Amino acid sequence: MIRQLLPGLLVLCACVAPAAQPTPPDRRIAVTIDDLPWQRMQRTDAAALPVRHAQLMASLREAGVPVAGFVNEDKLEVDGEVQPERVAMLRDWLDAGFELGNHTYGHVDLHAVGLPAFEQAIVRGERTLRPLLAERDATPRWFRHPYLRAGRTPDDKAAVAAFLDARGYRIAPVTVDNGEWVFAFAYANVLDGQPDTPARAATLERLHRGYVPYMLAKLDYYERQSIALLGYALPQVLLLHANELNAAAYVDLVEGIRRRGYRFVALDEAMRDPAYAREDGYRGRYGPSWLHRWAMAEAKPKTFYAGEPEVPRWVLDLAGVDSE
Ligand SMILES: [Zn+2]
Repeated sequence: MIRQLLPGLLVLCACVAPAAQPTPPDRRIAVTIDDLPWQRMQRTDAAALPVRHAQLMASLREAGVPVAGFVNEDKLEVDGEVQPERVAMLRDWLDAGFELGNHTYGHVDLHAVGLPAFEQAIVRGERTLRPLLAERDATPRWFRHPYLRAGRTPDDKAAVAAFLDARGYRIAPVTVDNGEWVFAFAYANVLDGQPDTPARAATLERLHRGYVPYMLAKLDYYERQSIALLGYALPQVLLLHANELNAAAYVDLVEGIRRRGYRFVALDEAMRDPAYAREDGYRGRYGPSWLHRWAMAEAKPKTFYAGEPEVPRWVLDLAGVDSE
């Protein structure tokens, strides 16, 4: 009797339990950081650079989540000579357990320079990176287009993709596109352009406090866009840069994202989601989120894109830029 009843009960439990407990969204995100070793290398005081870099590395280590960093090798050079102390900055990223990828030699815009020059910039962008990774039995495997400009025609996109594939690279898309760079330009302008007074400290604090909720609003927006387009929250890919702002605010940003229910994953785990095999339907001159490129491939109406958070005017003014 008991033998007959128990299997029936077990089956009953297995059938009822999933319906009674709806699965929460599996929120995952991969962090990518561009313009290594330092975003505004030319404009950063050589004496300040080691301190700022050390602050960023300390924040990245404290946050303790996976990162893929993307290198511009022109930033390793002074007057055409690679500077060992700048290569050492990249070693710090590897020592911390982060990945490094190629972001072209001179941060070139594919849409401006054309395919042959772009391919040269990819090859020139791994002259230090490839041997650096070989020291650790690794090869470069990620590529990020500067300005996220990935080609204006299907032919150009396919040509770049084939060129990258032949050199062992995968394209690293971005889904949480954002104006972090505007906050960062503002932060650096205030830090470098104003005397070290309580007023400067207050403005830096205001930027820090404005940056995190702005980024979380962007994340919420792209989560909604993902659900609207795909029917689920895909593993997102976040774009940041190596700069003073993240040296100060990265730990708070990561904590804020965690409080949204996200867990942090490596880029290759995020990209296992089948959405990343979708068609990039964007044909314009800029570099939008891949979520919106896939929406364009489905010819979504203009209203689909409404409601994206904007960088506040006061931040644009401090950054000295007209628009995002
Ligand atoms: Zn970049």
